[in-house]
Amino acid sequence: MHDAGQGELSAAAIHTFRRKLIHWYRTNARDLPWRGICDAYRTWVSEVMLQQTRVAAMLEHYERFLRMFPTVFALALAPEAEVLACWSGLGYYRRARMLHKAAQFLVTERAGVIPDTSIGLRTLPGIGEYTSAAIASIAFGESIAVVDGNVERVLLRITGRAEDTSVAGQKLIRDLAASLIPHKRVGDETNAAGDHNQAMMELGATVCTPKAPLCLTCPVHDLCLTRGEHVKLPRGTQKSHPAAYLLATRKRGITTDVLLERRSADARLMPGMVELPPLPMSAVAGREPLLRLRHAITNTNYYVEIHAQSGSGERVLRRAVKVPADSLIWQPVPQLHALPLTGLARKVLMRLDLMAVAGPENPRRATGFVIP
Ligand code: SF4
Repeated sequence: MHDAGQGELSAAAIHTFRRKLIHWYRTNARDLPWRGICDAYRTWVSEVMLQQTRVAAMLEHYERFLRMFPTVFALALAPEAEVLACWSGLGYYRRARMLHKAAQFLVTERAGVIPDTSIGLRTLPGIGEYTSAAIASIAFGESIAVVDGNVERVLLRITGRAEDTSVAGQKLIRDLAASLIPHKRVGDETNAAGDHNQAMMELGATVCTPKAPLCLTCPVHDLCLTRGEHVKLPRGTQKSHPAAYLLATRKRGITTDVLLERRSADARLMPGMVELPPLPMSAVAGREPLLRLRHAITNTNYYVEIHAQSGSGERVLRRAVKVPADSLIWQPVPQLHALPLTGLARKVLMRLDLMAVAGPENPRRATGFVIP
């Protein structure tokens, strides 16, 4: 099957690969809300949310985001803080900001119409090579290959190549992916290219998985040079980092407020997002935390301690918080959902039963900050 040389597939192999892959996809693909629809906006939102995020982790956010912002116009007209609040917990908030900016650009410059080619899509803020190819093929049927980490892994294993991050190595993978993409035939009503791309990503996500590929159930097993004896991808070095945060609350009548910090608009990481006030580790040495948890971001594990301000007279921990006073805000517990919380802050507040798992249907109902 690999008679065109190692790393290349013969015309016959390409034909068989496409046929087996699409048959498998049509009978095994997960039923996901952005599949089988004809709505470029929804495809776009799903592709942006799926960047660096697993399907299981973004499904609830996807549904909620589209209830809040069902159209490009609804998204463009929303304040950024509302978009970030809805995105809260997904991480990589630049994605939300770019999505919002692109929606505003579309509404002001293109009457809200999403470009229907990969080249046109790349003129929008935050849409690069991968996302433009995904939207153009899935929503508009363009014959262009999508190459994400899952697709690259499948192609490396099929062809028995070692991972090569050089420009030439990456081009080879893109060329190989492009050679597999079916071209639209006159009169064909199906979206062959979009389905093929989704099938490739699905295969990598559910069968040709990074650690333990399910080769015995793989639809392209017969075409694969490695069949699980794949070249292992180098692992990123896991790093560990301790961190401590303050949980300070106050009672106002029947309401409890929580003290939070709003990161500055020009902060390098997560600008404008809201979190618990950070504490230096030296301030909590020898203290027993209220809560301990691990929080992973990319290749770093944060070992987090949450320390409660114990008693109204005890101000030691509060004084140890070294952020500007005007960045501190008191937020009533029932309105925490209205804030663009960091994923860690959301996780902590949920663990401490200060927030429910799902937020209110419409955070617009919540009022603004309560400044002490
Ligand atoms: S046979 Fe195994 S290694 Fe090859 S593509 Fe299928 S799952 Fe991946």
